[in-house]
Amino acid sequence: MNIESLPRTRLARLDTPLEELNRLSAELGGPRLLMKRDDLIGLALGGNKVRKLEFLIGEALTRGADVLVTAGGAQSNHCRLTAAAAVKAGLGCHLVLAGKPPESANGNVLLDQLFGAYLHWCERAEREATLEAVAEQLRDRGRRPYVIPVGGSNEVGTVGYVRAMFELKQQLARDGIKADRVVVASSSGGTQAGLVLGAKLAGFAGEILGISIDQTKIGEDAFPPVLARIAAATAKRIDESCSFQDRDFVLNCDYLGAGYAIPGESEKEAIEITSRLEGILLGPVYTGRAMGGLIDLIRKGRIGKQETVVFWHTGGTPELFAYNRMFAAD
Ligand SMILES: *Cc1c(COP(=O)(O)O)cnc(C)c1O
Repeated sequence: MNIESLPRTRLARLDTPLEELNRLSAELGGPRLLMKRDDLIGLALGGNKVRKLEFLIGEALTRGADVLVTAGGAQSNHCRLTAAAAVKAGLGCHLVLAGKPPESANGNVLLDQLFGAYLHWCERAEREATLEAVAEQLRDRGRRPYVIPVGGSNEVGTVGYVRAMFELKQQLARDGIKADRVVVASSSGGTQAGLVLGAKLAGFAGEILGISIDQTKIGEDAFPPVLARIAAATAKRIDESCSFQDRDFVLNCDYLGAGYAIPGESEKEAIEITSRLEGILLGPVYTGRAMGGLIDLIRKGRIGKQETVVFWHTGGTPELFAYNRMFAAD
């Protein structure tokens, strides 16, 4: 089916703005920087998961679901936005959160609660099993759960980022801008896989550079094969015959720091510099890490001064309120 005929529940305000970052660009001595503001996408403090949820909830409603079940980390933006989208669509919502509940509800956890989601806390290793168990319990009680995988990164949700690439391409054409590169935080893969598929279909010639938040390129858990699988399955869903290899995905894994959701100096500097020069907020877990990577690549000359770069703001600003201690010394 083509994208426009797939089931979709409108949640986003589109197109999201494409904004020049003149002051940040000047501070770094070039390149020309633009930001695609998916943090301003309109639902519940925004973020990339809204584009995926439009198609996931469209599918859930088509299947007659009455409750959504998904999982993520304690401060998951995906879970917060699933909870908000469930409210909009008149569905129930159960969230499986890995980690320890905060002493008092903060950041995204506070928002999950405000949206009336049921929270199930578990260990990281138990996440998938708990997700299945929660869905099973709901079925036993006569409910019709629709299970959304972590990050919404399957072929249903990823369609949202295929569409997003067409949106960006049109905005660039309208403004007469030729972008050499798109830089985006990459973690469960749907965003990058969708953009790469979208670039192929829309004829966008620039590079899509994924800054890995928590995935590696090598070994048994290597991420590029995951990205290739998501992209291929998504192509199939929209009746496009594209095949993908690992090398179709440009991934930088140099900014993993001390691990997932453990921000350090790079994230802190990126958040501070972007707030102070552009009045734009980033989150410590994803967008702060990705911007820290972009700034470092520019300083090292790995991204040229003459280039035009689009940083895709994938959201996550509510994380800031759970990580306020990292700014304590300022
Ligand atoms: C989920 C998320 C990402 C990563 O997107 P994936 O599609 O999971 O790779 C990036 N930024 C933010 C703020 C997110 O919440």
